[in-house]
Amino acid sequence: MEIIDGKKVSTQIKEEIAEEVARLVAEGKKIPHLAAVLVGNDGASETYVANKVKACQAVGIKSTELRYGSDITEEQLLEVIRQLNEDSDIDGFIVQLPLPKHISEEKVLNTIHPDKDVDGFHPCNVGKMVLGLPTYLPATPAGIMELLARYDIDTEGKHCVVVGRSNIVGTPMAVLMSRKAKHANCTVTMCHSRTSNLKEITRQADILIVAIGVPHFITKDMVREGCVVVDVGIHRIPSETTKSGWKLVGDVDFEQVSPLCSYITPVPGGVGPMTIVSLLQNTIKACKAKH
Ligand code: NDP
Repeated sequence: MEIIDGKKVSTQIKEEIAEEVARLVAEGKKIPHLAAVLVGNDGASETYVANKVKACQAVGIKSTELRYGSDITEEQLLEVIRQLNEDSDIDGFIVQLPLPKHISEEKVLNTIHPDKDVDGFHPCNVGKMVLGLPTYLPATPAGIMELLARYDIDTEGKHCVVVGRSNIVGTPMAVLMSRKAKHANCTVTMCHSRTSNLKEITRQADILIVAIGVPHFITKDMVREGCVVVDVGIHRIPSETTKSGWKLVGDVDFEQVSPLCSYITPVPGGVGPMTIVSLLQNTIKACKAKH
């Protein structure tokens, strides 16, 4: 069994990105600039945005954080987005989700200009992804594709089972794994909460990608020997064995399942660190596309 070390790979890619930014600076080109819009005081969202800003700083990408109270109206937020669309110094921006209930996420995502949509959530960019046209891929699935490529995992003709069908992980993952491309070319089955005989299907997987949001859901009886397991889930659960009193776990019961696998991503240190790296890559892409 080999651990797919997302932390190591993400560090390596960040070094590559830092070199690229330094090269742009040396050539007198524009420094890539990412803006992140944060609405409200959700603790997890604040941490995600802070980590994104920190990652930008570490590689030399310029970043701007725009914070608004949860009482901002939908129209005011849409106006912020329109201004960011017009701001020629901002190459790409993200609006951290979830948003307060009175603001339509759909309206917000549709207002972001597709050329600046470095999260890859705009319907235009989702459509391009489905058609295999150049676009910004959503960060988590793109990070997983990068991990499979960097570990040179043989995916061609394999049966990939994706558990979860969210717009940000499961659905794009299934699309990307079924593409006619190196490190894809899989036969894909997508499962969700209405799937009957889930265990029978996951046991047929050569590659099992799990994004359901239920801690330790995938147990050893659901995985066949030699499977490649990618665990997207991330949960903080109480623990008696850590000083802090909690630990991070995934959707997969790592202890039970990992001995059966050929490769597996751990939690933490697997998919998580790759998500931010994909956002940085998309920001560079946005900058280069314009200049
Ligand atoms: P969502 O809650 O949006 O989607 C979960 C999906 O899992 C749904 O399609 C749901 O089915 C399906 N599902 C839920 N329960 C079951 C079940 N018992 N059996 C089969 N399918 C089930 O989650 P996300 O895709 O946004 O995230 C999934 C996990 O990944 C979460 O733990 C999240 O924190 C984590 N995550 C981690 C990231 C990272 O960078 N590491 C990035 C993004 C997410 P249905 O559609 O029928 O409801």
